[in-house]
Amino acid sequence: MSHVTHDAPDATLQATFLAALRTALPDLRLLTDGADTDAYRRDMTAYLQPGMPLGVAFPNSTTEVSTILRLASEHRIPVVPRGAGSGLSGGAAAIDGALTVVLTGMDRILHIDPDDLYVVVQPGIMNAALGRELAPQGLFFPPDPASFEFCSIGGNLAENAGGLRCVKYGVTRDYVLGLEVVLADGSVIRTGGRTVKDVMGYDLTQLFVGSEGTLGIITEATLRVLPMPSPNRTMLAFFRTATDAGRAVSGITRAGVVPVTLELMDRFTIHAVEAALHVGLPADAGAMLLIESDAPEVVADAELDAAAAACRAVGALRIDRAGTAEEADALREARRKAHWSLERAGVARMEDVGVPRSRAAELIAAIEHITTETGVPVGVFGHAGDGNFHPTFVMDPDDPEGERKVEEARARLFAAVLELGGTVSGEHGTGLVKRAWLERQRGADHVRILGAIKTALDPLGILNPGKILALD
Ligand SMILES: Cc1cc2nc3c(=O)[nH]c(=O)nc-3n(C[C@H](O)[C@H](O)[C@H](O)COP(=O)(O)OP(=O)(O)OC[C@H]3O[C@@H](n4cnc5c(N)ncnc54)[C@H](O)[C@@H]3O)c2cc1C
Repeated sequence: MSHVTHDAPDATLQATFLAALRTALPDLRLLTDGADTDAYRRDMTAYLQPGMPLGVAFPNSTTEVSTILRLASEHRIPVVPRGAGSGLSGGAAAIDGALTVVLTGMDRILHIDPDDLYVVVQPGIMNAALGRELAPQGLFFPPDPASFEFCSIGGNLAENAGGLRCVKYGVTRDYVLGLEVVLADGSVIRTGGRTVKDVMGYDLTQLFVGSEGTLGIITEATLRVLPMPSPNRTMLAFFRTATDAGRAVSGITRAGVVPVTLELMDRFTIHAVEAALHVGLPADAGAMLLIESDAPEVVADAELDAAAAACRAVGALRIDRAGTAEEADALREARRKAHWSLERAGVARMEDVGVPRSRAAELIAAIEHITTETGVPVGVFGHAGDGNFHPTFVMDPDDPEGERKVEEARARLFAAVLELGGTVSGEHGTGLVKRAWLERQRGADHVRILGAIKTALDPLGILNPGKILALD
């Protein structure tokens, strides 16, 4: 089991820091008892052993965040920014002797602008809650991670999260106009603005998006929103093998169809979901695609017809169209619950690899080969339309060799992905769990530049040390 370590500051400095924090911010909610802080040590990367935080703070304003970071810098106390803790790369995992700063109390929508199509929010609002507030105004924020009910916009920004609609709408970074960010020394900067176009200077907004809490704490975001599209029309296609489904994805792309959702589940995942939810998925299918269109009705029908033809061309076993909105919701929910269902089968370790879409079938074949060779069961599901898959290794907790076998399968998977011109993480981030693969994917020069950026913005290494980049 990986352990999150860091040279903790000495006890005197820690005590002085906590005293200074209490004096400067007497109303700040601050937990320091281990029994209370325990709930904030882990994100959803269950196999990581997190550190013991010095404390957990819950600021309510940018001023409070600024004071916390100023004092942390003065006392050399590391800080772990934290949203809702749903991350899958250890980004919010606690560090020994660090202060975890939870942003979920800053969850207000500050402004909705239907004329200029933007919204200004604090980082702690949950993704789905923002969607619910926008809907009555006929607006929507497209990025929707499968975790949308329990992940924050701040976490989405810090991870550059994807989701089920990326194939048509892109990822979180495509919807960020500007940010307010508190830097490690407590200074507050604003990046970007509210205009559709803006090319003044280097693009700091995009630098902070995906920076995983290592460069600054996001305290406000101006996000682009779109007019609400039509309700989704939903179709399921079942295949003999996952490779057939991968070929269907290529066929759909070649046919010029851009569905809003194009998700895959393999046989192992279908069985796990069916065992957990009993939604009537066929036991004999080797793979399934969930295909949706949010185009106006006539166009949506034409898109699904073309997608169905591409599926039949590779020998689809069965194609079902959801008759009602409720049926469609149930099918989407089955996909959203894939990880949860696999967790019921053992210790699930979800990966997040991406390949160029045209190589999806090759990736699936490589995963099947790795499973056979290592003997580690794997459920594959994910955003097939983006070439972004979540092979989830299911470890038998009673197998003493289980962890070693998963590590081997994981290393083989990443090597295969890089061979196919892909990425070790499509949307979950580098954090701690992919850090060892950063240089192999990007190269030494690239990593050196990342280090220089980190040093320029956080010279004392206060913010989330050891995440993305290894400590020296
Ligand atoms: C079942 C399940 C399904 C998922 N599906 C998807 C999916 O479809 N697509 C996807 O992209 N991800 C998915 N995820 C992963 C996760 O939900 C996302 O990474 C999400 O964006 C994390 O948000 P959070 O609020 O929980 O952040 P946390 O886990 O709390 O933090 C994540 C990172 O962001 C940093 N951070 C948080 N808030 C701030 C802030 N205000 N300023 C600076 N840094 C900050 C933290 O330091 C950490 O590095 C899934 C997770 C689960 C458990």
